[in-house]
Amino acid sequence: MDPLWAELINSDWSDHLGSGRREDRIGNDGWLATFLGRTSWWGRALPSAAERERLRTLRRLLRRMIDALLAVTPIAESDTAALNRTMAKAPVKRRLAREGEAWTVELTMARGTIDDVLGEVAGSFAAMLARGEGDRVKVCENPDCGWVMVDSSRNRSRRWCDAAECGNVMKVRRYRQRHRRTG
Ligand SMILES: [Zn+2]
Repeated sequence: MDPLWAELINSDWSDHLGSGRREDRIGNDGWLATFLGRTSWWGRALPSAAERERLRTLRRLLRRMIDALLAVTPIAESDTAALNRTMAKAPVKRRLAREGEAWTVELTMARGTIDDVLGEVAGSFAAMLARGEGDRVKVCENPDCGWVMVDSSRNRSRRWCDAAECGNVMKVRRYRQRHRRTG
């Protein structure tokens, strides 16, 4: 499953089949309910229009930071500060737990408001950077797709958001191009 920060960025969706169709999924209630189900969101109702705007603001911030990573340029200090402000509004509870032989510290959000959701998403991005995975962030090689992902394969060979989807689309396209040239 994609980390929360990647899922938020990818909510700015475009059709990988190249129809040119786009959708801002923050405005799609079904998508939003699934996304929030992965977070501490406590509301029974979906976020208001103003709260959805704040998700879009965070998405723009994460997009700028990801674009800096992809371009191998420094992340702007003002963007780091904005990320920190977002996380500061979302206090967490820590809980020591045991999983078999290993100890873990579980972090849970204290409340579950939109501030907490924003902090959780921002925190998932910060944790990715802190784990040193910034250079594993990639964009799906299907130019119509643009899906942002983390390549966690050992030899960093991942090219597609989903090999069965975009990998196949591109294979078919290459085949057709070859066919046109030779035929
Ligand atoms: Zn893709």
